[in-house]
Amino acid sequence: MKAEIIAVGTELLLGQVVNTNATFLSEKLADMGVEVYYHTVVGDNPQRLEELLQLADTRSELIILCGGLGPTDDDLTKNVLADHVGVPLVQNQAGLVALQDFFAQRQSTMTPNNLRQIETLQDGIALPNRTGLAIGCLYKGEKNNYILLPGPPSELKPMFLEQARPLLEKEFPSAEKLTSRVLRFFGIGESQLVTDLAEMIEHQSNPTIAPYAKPNEVTLRITAKTEDELSAKTLLDQAETEIMAKVGAFFYGYGEENSLVEVVVNLLREKNLSITAAESLTAGEFQATLGTIPGVSEVFPGGFVTYSKETKSRFLGIDPGLLEQFGVVSEECAKEMAEAALRLAATDYALSFTGVAGPADLEGKPKGTVYIALAQKDGETIITENHFTRDRSYVRHSSVMKGLDLVRRAILNKN
Ligand code: ATP
Ligand code: MG
Repeated sequence: MKAEIIAVGTELLLGQVVNTNATFLSEKLADMGVEVYYHTVVGDNPQRLEELLQLADTRSELIILCGGLGPTDDDLTKNVLADHVGVPLVQNQAGLVALQDFFAQRQSTMTPNNLRQIETLQDGIALPNRTGLAIGCLYKGEKNNYILLPGPPSELKPMFLEQARPLLEKEFPSAEKLTSRVLRFFGIGESQLVTDLAEMIEHQSNPTIAPYAKPNEVTLRITAKTEDELSAKTLLDQAETEIMAKVGAFFYGYGEENSLVEVVVNLLREKNLSITAAESLTAGEFQATLGTIPGVSEVFPGGFVTYSKETKSRFLGIDPGLLEQFGVVSEECAKEMAEAALRLAATDYALSFTGVAGPADLEGKPKGTVYIALAQKDGETIITENHFTRDRSYVRHSSVMKGLDLVRRAILNKN
């Protein structure tokens, strides 16, 4: 089934609200095997909405409209759709009861315009609203099908998941389902990844392969279309093996949400290892990132932020002479910082970050130059010299990610 999503609301066109409803609906529809070909945003304007519906009729079997189901005059989606398909609006009885209850409970009077929210298309299937008042609707036309959903995401999401989705699955059963697997990579850019996988991507059909770049990492979503779960797994496994043979060195984890910091904290936990850090240019960002993971105290006792030369000496005991001789943006300084932190915190690993976040250069080193060292309780200190690009916050973020990856690789190399 080909679908499209029309978001209605002038606030979306003005840039005041981000069209997250389309993102949400697209993702859920994709999981159901419904192919979404268009996203459109239109203002609260009946004529332009009608024009858009005429266009949508020529290209989509399922047209999902969201927004404009409320009680005010600019909420006109339902009226426009009713005119478009040529049926009147009728009151939904269950909706009316809920609406009356709502006002009785609040001990306030209902204004007549509230009744607009409980109108649905005649012969449509009403979609109750558990978290609000406006009733949604599925209307099966002769050629196309329409779904009306409210604009507020807090109403749209439950209505779609609890009402519209089961109804769609019942009314339009599909033999094939989509199953996705997300692979995450660090240390390789999107263009390089796509180049390495060019042949696979060019010949993809089932499963499909979709790369997506995020700051400092790339994800690949592979999606199989099959009738049963087992053949989906087989197809995804095959594709994954092929992908890993080419870019497996940069793979760090699965899933949409699973971030590099989570992977690292889980590894530390699993192996019963601990970590600390001494941070200069990142000023605590690495440790703050660790802090986003609940229960990280099991592996992270604390650490150091040593921004100036003075604190590097005073907190970490680094010889001021060494800092004078080599400068703070140096391998030597990174090594001393990591090893001092390891000693002081008595952990298994200690990372250090020192470098030039920018915008200006420092000690004759260009902005983006960052030394990251990893001291290990039973192993040599690893020192890396990095040249990150873009602005100050990106340099700091890149440093944190690189530090996490160093730890991840060190733990994996141990075994
Ligand atoms: P209400 O009863 O609140 O008026 P409605 O169905 O009429 O609901 P709108 O008036 O179009 O919906 O939008 C209400 C609010 O919902 C918007 O101000 C906005 O915050 C949010 N919203 C609307 N459309 C979207 C969208 N496409 N994506 C994300 N949020 C949206
Ligand atoms: Mg509204």
